[in-house]
This record gives sequence, structure tokens and C-alpha cells, in this order.
Amino acid sequence: MSGMKNVADVLRGHAKTRGDKIALVYRGRETDFATLDRRASRVANGLIAAGVKPQQRVALLTRNCDQFMELYYGCAKANAVIVPVNFRLAGPEIAYIVNDAGAEVFFVGEGFAELAAENMADMPKVRQVVSLEGEGGYEDYAAWRDRQSGADPMVDNDPDDIASQLYSSGTTGHPKGVQLSHQSGLNLWPLLADPNEPAYGRWSEADVNLVCMPLYHVGGLNNALAGLYVGARTVIMAEAVPAEILKLIPEQRVTKSFLVPALILFLLQTPGCRDTDFSSLDEIWYGAAPIPVELLKQALEVFGPVFGQAYGMTESNGGGVYMPKADHDLSKPERLKSCGKPAPGYEVKVVDEDGNEVPTGEVGEIILKSNTLMAGYWNLPEATAKTLRDGWLWSGDAGYFDDEGFLYIYDRVKDMIISGGENIYPAEIESALFGHPAIADVAIIGVPDERWGEAVKAVVVKKPDAALSEAEVIDYARQRIAHYKCPKSVDFVDELPRNPTGKILKRELRKPYWEEIGRQ
Ligand code: AMP
Repeated sequence: MSGMKNVADVLRGHAKTRGDKIALVYRGRETDFATLDRRASRVANGLIAAGVKPQQRVALLTRNCDQFMELYYGCAKANAVIVPVNFRLAGPEIAYIVNDAGAEVFFVGEGFAELAAENMADMPKVRQVVSLEGEGGYEDYAAWRDRQSGADPMVDNDPDDIASQLYSSGTTGHPKGVQLSHQSGLNLWPLLADPNEPAYGRWSEADVNLVCMPLYHVGGLNNALAGLYVGARTVIMAEAVPAEILKLIPEQRVTKSFLVPALILFLLQTPGCRDTDFSSLDEIWYGAAPIPVELLKQALEVFGPVFGQAYGMTESNGGGVYMPKADHDLSKPERLKSCGKPAPGYEVKVVDEDGNEVPTGEVGEIILKSNTLMAGYWNLPEATAKTLRDGWLWSGDAGYFDDEGFLYIYDRVKDMIISGGENIYPAEIESALFGHPAIADVAIIGVPDERWGEAVKAVVVKKPDAALSEAEVIDYARQRIAHYKCPKSVDFVDELPRNPTGKILKRELRKPYWEEIGRQ
């Protein structure tokens, strides 16, 4: 499929060659490639008729659904930019993104019409709202779509034009609009289907692809787009409900999926998980947050050797580093801490503050280069210049390479704790504590300490009915990791605050301690 310059060319190709093959399954509703392609054309024609100009932003607020993909390709065909908004955000946060993008047309999914209406006064540029389920008195999407011509408008575009603008989930500050071009996607997805990359290029049209992570996030979106690229059957779930996932895998004979570590944890805790038939699975990609080794070991035992790790970020269009199934070797527990080697199409370096590579085994900041990187943050030249330097993307993650070329993520650079002059990375301690049979979840933070500057604190969620004391947690850590890294204190909580992709909101945990002394 060479010669493509618009992400919708993928769909145009399939409509010709396998038009009646099922592309999407959502709530039992099946859509074939020809229908999806025609609907995308109708959406594009509707946008053009509504006055949406090339490269103008179009906002979408919805849980996962099949219409999401119609809108993704429909925007592409009109050369508009789709801006999917995190549906878990509060009204003012949603308004921030819609306004920042300057969207004038706003699609709202099932259950979101009321929220949109309540906040409409704060989104003065929005002049047309379309409701995917015809709610709240807004125009009904299906009626609006089907009123338009199904002829492909064939709007010309440059491959460097922007296809999507994803707001990076971040853990601090306002989210930033990450601009991903058509070319970025068209460079990324073929890598997954490249037969010359047997460990990586495992995707084909025979796949059944389960999408349960949110489509507004680069992980969920590329999970769907990769399946659609190869012509696979892509099953979309509105939300990641663990019991439903366990039902769908054998029912649909799922072969591929993308999960975040927190969801893998929830799946393992779901009754019936161990009795589920996972024989159809070829590869479950996981990533977007660190996975504790103990959790990975359990997952490998229960699901089988089906896990491949991806390390990347919205700014790299999700790609970066990859650890194939074959390297998930239970007899090499140290290796399981790695996220793999640079994926095909990516160069990866570990550098000091000046951008000089640090020696093997030494921790530095991870930087990446590839032809899938973002074009930049929307309207934020300074932040862009800080993140994209001479074609390299500065990840904000600390890590190191071992002498076999495997990369290990230590942590976010800014989550690092400095205690008595020693750099301490929480992820390592979290991984160790995860092995404790009474610990269900754990986060490590730095809290103020008069003597050491910062001291290590563990915030622990106990397993139901488990008895566990502060001293036991500290003692368990001291038997496994260097003493200076061990928690000096422990808080027990019912639940850890997480963002939708499962990243623990460390800032929220740290806040009460640092606020006391007037810092954040
Ligand atoms: P986002 O752009 O929201 O996907 O966040 C990207 C960040 O998620 C990266 O910079 C990492 O901090 C984290 N991340 C992504 N993949 C992994 C992984 N496999 N292991 C550890 N952290 C990861």
C-alpha cells in the first residue's frame, strides 16, 4: 500500500480490495470496510458543508464506539484535524481543550450531551454540535451523516498535514495538543505488518483485534488503526470492563490487543480469569506505564507467553521501544524489567543534560528519533523547542541500556527522588514491593525530610482482608533493595489516584506533604 498520503487512503484501499470484510464490531454491530469508507465520505462531505476548512480542528467527546473511527477517517478525508477529548475530564477541562484547539464543530457521544450543554457557554467558538445518539436536542449524528453524499470528496492534502491532535494526558499542568501528521501514521502502521520483522511485524488481515483502551489516547487509537491498516477485524469496547474483556477474548477468538498494566492487574483480580480460554491470543501489547515485574510474571503464567511490551509516548505516535514475546523469558527475571530494544524505525539514545550519550549501564534521559514523531505541540513553540531538539524527542523518562542493548526505564525524570544526594527512582522500589503477597497496589513518593532533603515514602493499597504493618513493608523492602532506597514511612490507602492510562498521579500523593512546607 505505497503511495498513500492520507490516512484515509488505507480505508479507500480496503474498500476496493475487501469491501465486504468486517472492519469493526461494536456492541455486536458489524461494519464492513466499504460501509466504513462510504460513511467516512459522508462525514467529510458533512464537515465541508458545515464550513470546516482544511486543517481546522474538529472536537470529539465520546467513549469508544464505532462512529469514532468513521469520524477519524471522515476528518481525514476533509483534511480536517480530529481532536478526541478525554471523556473522563470535568466540564472546564473539556472546554479548555475544545477552545485551545479552536474547534467549531463538536461531536458528543452517548451520555455526554448534557455535559456539553452545561459547558457550552464556555466554548464560544463552537457553532455546531452533533450528538452521536441524538441526545440533548442536538442534531442526530446518523441522520446528519446519512443526509450527506457518499461520494468521496477526494480533498487534496499534503502528507505532512495534521491528521489528529491528541492531548497528552500528562500528570501536571494543562494538557498539550500533540500534532500527528498523516505521514506519521503511514510510517508507523506498516512496520507492524512487515514480514521482514518477524518479531515485530505480526499483524495481518487474519487478526481479530480487541480495542478496550480509550481511543482518545495514542495507545487505544493506534491499536484500532493498526488493525484497520492490515484489514483485520477490530472489536471495539466502549470501556475496559475486565469481566467483559474475559468474555470477549474467547467469544471473538481475539488474537491481538493493547492493554495498560493497571488493566492487566484488574484482569488478574477478576474472578474466572484463570479459567478463561486464552488459546486464540497471539500477542497482547502492553505499555503506557511501567509494569511491576511481579505483575508481569503473574500475567505470563495466567495468559501464557503472549505479551509484547511497547514503550513510547503520544509525542512519538506511540512507537519507540519494543520487547517481543520471545524476550519475555521467565527464566531471566532481570530481563523482564526491560522494555526491549529500539523498535524498527526508531533510534534511541540515553543522554546527559547536554545531549551527550552516557556509557552503557548509566542512567540518563531517553531520547528518540523516527519519522513518526509529532510535528510539534499546537500553538506552543517554546514547549515544542524544549521537547524536539535537532530531530530528537526528549522523553522526560530516565533509563539506561544494558550491554546487550536492552533499555530499562527507570522512571519519569521529574518523579526522581533525591535523598541525601542519591538519585532514587520510585519504579524500582514499587516493583520490589509488588512482590509482597499482601500488597495490591503501591506508589513511591518523596516527602520532605529535614536531614535528607527528601525521604522515601510508600503509599500502599492492601489486598482485601490482608494484615500488613508499616514495619513489615519496610522490612520487606530492606531484604530486597539497597537500604538508602527503602521507604522510611508507609501510608495505607484504599485506592491510588490514576490517570485514564493507568499512570499514578504522584503529584496528588505528594501534594499534602509539600504544601505543608510551602512547596509543590
Ligand atoms: P503518554 O504520552 O500519555 O502515552 O505517556 C508517555 C509516557 O508513558 C512515557 O514518557 C513513559 O513515562 C510512560 N510509558 C510509556 N510506555 C511505557 C513502558 N512500556 N514502561 C514504562 N513507562 C512507559
